[in-house]
Amino acid sequence: MNILVINCGSSSLKFQLIDAQSEKLIAKGLCERIGIDGSQMTYTPDGGEKLKTVTPMADHTAAIKLVLDALTDEKTGVVKSLDEIGAVGHRIVHGGENFASSTLITEEVIRAIEECNDLAPLHNPANLIGIRACQELMDGTPMVAVFDTAFHQTMPEEAYLYGIPYHYYEDYKVRRYGFHGTSHSYVSHQAAKILGRAYEDLKIIVCHLGNGASVSAVKNGKCVDTSMGLTPLEGLIMGTRSGDLDPAIIEFLCNKEGKDVHEMLNILNKESGVLGLSGGFSSDFRDLEEAFDAGKENAVRTMKTFSYRVAKYIGAYTAAMNGVDAICFTAGLGENSSFVRNMICSYLKYLGITLDQEANSKRGEDMVISTEDSRTKVLVIPTNEELAIARETYALVK
Ligand code: AMP
Repeated sequence: MNILVINCGSSSLKFQLIDAQSEKLIAKGLCERIGIDGSQMTYTPDGGEKLKTVTPMADHTAAIKLVLDALTDEKTGVVKSLDEIGAVGHRIVHGGENFASSTLITEEVIRAIEECNDLAPLHNPANLIGIRACQELMDGTPMVAVFDTAFHQTMPEEAYLYGIPYHYYEDYKVRRYGFHGTSHSYVSHQAAKILGRAYEDLKIIVCHLGNGASVSAVKNGKCVDTSMGLTPLEGLIMGTRSGDLDPAIIEFLCNKEGKDVHEMLNILNKESGVLGLSGGFSSDFRDLEEAFDAGKENAVRTMKTFSYRVAKYIGAYTAAMNGVDAICFTAGLGENSSFVRNMICSYLKYLGITLDQEANSKRGEDMVISTEDSRTKVLVIPTNEELAIARETYALVK
């Protein structure tokens, strides 16, 4: 069965068509600037050339129509008709406490996703637009919602509660939810497979280090803690997000700078992280690594502060699980930067970790990068959120 995976943003839409049985990618693409001037779609059938179409897309329905036309196009398409698409899997950012697993989309499910809109005001409404657009164009095709938050719903109370009046949790559901759940789930399962061990027997820490970054602790097959919180702002220092900070800093800086809370949160989301720490130099670790090598002071302090924060979380999660068997690195930075992996692991000698530098220098494949005798295993596992969404979707519709 072919599964269409849709990841809908406010003005963009990523898609992949995946054969669920063979898990082979059939085609993929991206619609950008939906509803704004200069809309364009890139579409790549597997093994074929990337095709670019610049054409107005008034809304997400128009974008999805273009995607479906491309997939069924006589010359460059990959299926004869939409009947060959058995189901659609939608990535949904926030499922709140309503969803601890993926689910078939019904009107009731849509209402429950809408209830979570104020927890993810930028993402959930866009995800819902994607669902509605697919329903309009693919009437009768089963759709599945796969939530970024679902994997973390197994966290115990002591991990998800904040130290604030309890009625804020009761009244408004203010608690830690965590994100990147599809990636944490995929990578931790994959780690067990690579190590040839039962998932339920392992203590795994997953470091998803991309432009957005989070760490999770997976004990005996269940997520027991994760670094992102009510929103994706908490936790690690990220590309442009601050991660953890003393909440009193917000009022302090608002007073100093004559800004309101909304403006300050915008700075914490978009102008902070490694971009802010490096004095506005770059949010991209490739630039930062180059500047680090050249001895630039701003890059040195940024890389050190970033890596230290990751190492600190690994320490905390080792304590939370009373040990750790494997530490996994994934996402843009985690998968590609041997330099950052080395820097983080330099704090982890107490876990008996030694890296195999030859393995650590390779790229693009699942790999154990610790030495044979390393007490704790370290792995690099390229994440594949789309495949994970396709698997979840297939499991519910087959
Ligand atoms: P993601 O959000 O997972 O797509 O990750 C994107 C981030 O990964 C980029 O902003 C870079 O900082 C980082 N990245 C990607 N490739 C490399 C690389 N070869 N070396 C270092 N960092 C990289």
